Amino acid sequence: MNRLFAHPLFRRRRIVSRAALATSLAGFALTAALFGVARELEAESARVDFERRAAVRTAAVTRAFGEAVHDLRALNLLFVAGKGEVSRDAFDAFAQPLAAGNGYLVALEYQRFVDGAARAAFEAERARFWPGFAIRERTADGRLVVAPPRQRYLVNDYVVPIASNGSVFGYDLWSSLEERAYSQRAIDAGTPTASPLLRLVQGDGALRGMLVVMPVYRPGADLSSVAARRAAVLGQAAVVIDTGLLVGGSLHAAHLLAVDDFALTLYGRSSAGERVAVFHHPGAPPAQSGLERWLGEGPDAITTRFDVAGSQWEMRAVRLARGLDSQVGSLSILGYGCVLSLAVAFLVQQRSARTRRIESLVERRTADLALTAGALRLHQRAIESAANPILMVSATRPGYPIEYANPACERTLGYGPGELAGKPLAALARADSEEPGLEELRQALYECRKAHALVRQATRDGRELVSEVYIAPVNNAQGATEHFVVTTYDVTVAKRYEAELAHRARYDSLTGLANGALLLDRIERALATAGNAPVWLVALDIDHFKLVNDTLGRRIGDEALRAIAARVAASIRQADTAARTGGDNFMLVLVGYADERQAAARVQAVRDAIGEPLQIEEHTLVFGSSAGVAGYPADGRDPETLVKHAELAMYRTKQLGRNAVHFYAPHMNAHASDRLALEGALRGALREDQFELYFQPQVDLGSGRVVGTEALIRWRHPHFGTVRPERFIALAEETGLIVPIGAWVLHTACRQNVRWQRAGLGPLRIGVNLSARQFAEPDLVQTVRSVLDETGLQADSLEIELTESMMMADVESAIETMHCLKAMGVKLSIDDFGTGYSSLAYLKRFPVDVLKIDRSFVHDSVLSRDGAAMVDAIISLAHGLRMQVIAEGVETLEQLDYLRGCGCDEVQGHIYARPEPVQMVEPLLRQGRVEPSPVQA
Ligand code: C2E
Ligand code: CA
Ligand code: CA
Repeated sequence: MNRLFAHPLFRRRRIVSRAALATSLAGFALTAALFGVARELEAESARVDFERRAAVRTAAVTRAFGEAVHDLRALNLLFVAGKGEVSRDAFDAFAQPLAAGNGYLVALEYQRFVDGAARAAFEAERARFWPGFAIRERTADGRLVVAPPRQRYLVNDYVVPIASNGSVFGYDLWSSLEERAYSQRAIDAGTPTASPLLRLVQGDGALRGMLVVMPVYRPGADLSSVAARRAAVLGQAAVVIDTGLLVGGSLHAAHLLAVDDFALTLYGRSSAGERVAVFHHPGAPPAQSGLERWLGEGPDAITTRFDVAGSQWEMRAVRLARGLDSQVGSLSILGYGCVLSLAVAFLVQQRSARTRRIESLVERRTADLALTAGALRLHQRAIESAANPILMVSATRPGYPIEYANPACERTLGYGPGELAGKPLAALARADSEEPGLEELRQALYECRKAHALVRQATRDGRELVSEVYIAPVNNAQGATEHFVVTTYDVTVAKRYEAELAHRARYDSLTGLANGALLLDRIERALATAGNAPVWLVALDIDHFKLVNDTLGRRIGDEALRAIAARVAASIRQADTAARTGGDNFMLVLVGYADERQAAARVQAVRDAIGEPLQIEEHTLVFGSSAGVAGYPADGRDPETLVKHAELAMYRTKQLGRNAVHFYAPHMNAHASDRLALEGALRGALREDQFELYFQPQVDLGSGRVVGTEALIRWRHPHFGTVRPERFIALAEETGLIVPIGAWVLHTACRQNVRWQRAGLGPLRIGVNLSARQFAEPDLVQTVRSVLDETGLQADSLEIELTESMMMADVESAIETMHCLKAMGVKLSIDDFGTGYSSLAYLKRFPVDVLKIDRSFVHDSVLSRDGAAMVDAIISLAHGLRMQVIAEGVETLEQLDYLRGCGCDEVQGHIYARPEPVQMVEPLLRQGRVEPSPVQA
């Protein structure tokens, strides 16, 4: 750093001052630190977003695999239902629609065990409709040849679609060690089992794929041990999957490949245990400038592992680039921070430059005057013709008598030629002035040093001047000070201008009263000096003043304000302050009135003055005024509070009919009092039986049937009317009242549902909202259990709605509570899904049955592609996690159709019914179904 300052740039002329440099460096350092923090936060949020998107994709893929396995189970069930034997026609009829509907299903097959002894009859039978049929096997180089005699074969007997799979008809899987291995595992376990990735017999061995097989056993056989299962096996149902197509197709269908800043690769395993990529979506990283590359993060990767029927899969997602728009925050900090640092450094620089200029001026003058007498003479004319007063005073004689004064001195100060010579320097100062500037000059004279100061001077005829005076000692050859040179700059005009500016900064330009800034100052000063005496703040508003502006115009309005202001100013005392705080709002600070009575009398005097008829041009105006008063210290101890309370009191005056004055009282504090009143009322609400439950039906999209309702609380208050939950749930939470209220809701909702069920309205389900506080109550599980016992409701008819945020506070204990509730048989749903943390990592761990899509997503689903993709993704994700999905807040047919297309299970919303009291929902429940009728916009 020192080396830097030693650089000629800084040393010779010090173009940049140290202070400015230090300021800018500190600014840059702070900016850099903030930038760093902001970037970390942004990177974190981008990472979470990336994780979420990767998880959505994994969920879509696992779901697709799940569906394939599901198809296999269905195929297998066909054999169970057929007692182990199913005709070729029946198999075809069942399998063909499956194959046609799912492009990734290369084949659906039944592979049958055939004994060596039965081979000839088996082949002869098949050859009747498939000439030349023989059991075949594959040679090392991949050709299919007739199999040599063996004890046992596992022959591909039924194959759909046969057109593209003719080559595998008759193929003996048992002949291949690879295929025998996983088939044997399936037989031993009795469950769907996947093969490793294979080169399929279909597609000339070029196609990579996977078989999932599930054994078919002899009906009624004992299957309790591995040996028993081996003895009972008849064959196996199999699906052959083109894994690349399955993965790509499912991602594409869910619009999950549309985003290109993402590379995806899916790996399976070959029989040798090697990782093999079956699907790759390269993505297309956006073209980036050098800056963007520098700012963006390097690729980020996530690998997720999952299992499909016993085979291991890996999904690897690589984020290719992070756009600049996710970094706007940190870049703005960087930009603004640098600009701000430079601006502040610039200001510092300006100030130090000015100080230096003045210093160097004095130095130069001193140097000038320290010239020899001859040189002095040379400069005489310059000094004489100078516009500013210049004096030479003796440093050695008492009183510093003036030895020389240039003509400008006399011009400026009004003395005749020669009149100043011999006078003491002090004669030029104002007789009455005791100024700090003067003291500084005296001190400098005494110490024989340079100085400068701002002082007030008087001219010969008594006019006041404001001058900047510079003093510099003039030394002789021996270094002793013999003279001082005194230079004076008349800055009166500049000072007056400054004062005017200062005035404008503190006074209202229209009326000349104090403005808000000065008012604050005056209040502070009044409070600081008040001691125990009261200070009164009066907010004053001219009634209906706006009418004047509106009907007579601004000019008359301004005129009227000026007149009113003058009356206000004239009717208060010197020590009081009147300010205009904007428009027709005035504020008074009154000091020295001992009590409310005295203060009120003064306010009345002001109001009376305002109320006198006012003549402006041809108009006679009469104004009423509304005032509010707050007193220090009773109504507040700081200016803000006092001003606020005075204004509240003034509003109260207006509410009560204007043209009066009111003193502040605590009940006027509208917000606080409202809240307090609400809280008081809430305490009594349960006792007074003011709560009621509304119920909103939930409809199954497939069947159109009402499957349950959600209970939504309403509060009917004799004064406040019906209060919606948004207004009081939060308050109930804060005060803890939510616990008894929540218990009441749970009990009432369950009891109502039992009544409906007993009345024969079907196996209705009831949804009950829990609040965070209730969910955290240690005896929640116990409460739920006893409510179920008391009301007789079956646990699985109760669905408890939780929100994500409730669970994130203490994830582990939330999961534990959820497991306890589940163990009881209660259903759990996640309410407002998508608006909370949506941590998918946790979602998998939460034992929930239902995901409830928040109505904001439903709303957006038909407005934008992003909105649509989001809903689609949430639904796939939920289904992938084996959860049901219900969408809430559905209002239009368009929304309904879209949700149906995405496979959403249930909906709730105004399109079917609004939340309504028991008597109103009952008819609907009795009908059992309801037609959509869209909400009118
Ligand atoms: P929520 O759990 O998300 O409840 C759904 C809200 O959406 C309800 O508002 C419902 O009236 C409204 N809604 C339903 N369909 C539509 C529609 O098609 N369009 C629109 N615009 N709105 C629809 P509500 O009844 O005002 O309840 C607000 C929130 O208050 C609830 O949000 C829930 O968080 C809370 N709440 C209600 N009852 C209880 C309760 O008993 N206990 C607790 N802890 N919270 C409750
Ligand atoms: Ca809810
Ligand atoms: Ca909700």
